[in-house]
Amino acid sequence: MKAKNGTTLFDRVVEATPGGELLAHCLQCGSCGGSCPSGPDMDHTPRGIFALINAGLEDEVLSSNTPWYCVSCYACTARCPQQIPITDIMYTLKEMAIHAGRYDHPQAAKFSETFIGFVEQRGRSFEAGLATRYHLFHHPENVVKLGMMGVGMMRRNRLALRPASIKNTEQLQKILAEAKSIAAKGRRS
Ligand code: SF4
Ligand code: SF4
Repeated sequence: MKAKNGTTLFDRVVEATPGGELLAHCLQCGSCGGSCPSGPDMDHTPRGIFALINAGLEDEVLSSNTPWYCVSCYACTARCPQQIPITDIMYTLKEMAIHAGRYDHPQAAKFSETFIGFVEQRGRSFEAGLATRYHLFHHPENVVKLGMMGVGMMRRNRLALRPASIKNTEQLQKILAEAKSIAAKGRRS
């Protein structure tokens, strides 16, 4: 299905994603969904989303919670036999959903914002903060179990109690500000 400007959803996703042209080589093998830790919470696996993109089902794609539950772990990208930049496509879909006003998953979006906020401010994710927020919002029944597991991991020094930062966060923030400005110019052109 073509948009008013003559492009398909597939074309726009490809154009907005570095290396996105590789999406044309998707085999629908399902390795991405099989390696995704957020798969059970997604309404479509990454493989399923790519099939919907191919079919031009824009409403279904842009209203899906799938990109919002993506935690950018890159497991799918590492395992994809066709080297498709799956994680980057998830970012593209979030951006497209925001632009189309299809911001239908405020809780998942909050989760994503929390993750990005940690990375933008500190250059690192903060697993304890992220997991706590995620479970409080989505699986409150697991909070006690999660807390006990977290304490065990902290005792073994496998989980930090406080968020860590990279050395030069100012430089990171300048790079991100420049990248956002380039992206904004690209959207206006
Ligand atoms: S792992 Fe790669 S080739 Fe297989 S379904 Fe996912 S995107 Fe397509
Ligand atoms: S990068 Fe996102 S889509 Fe890919 S495996 Fe990780 S959470 Fe799932």
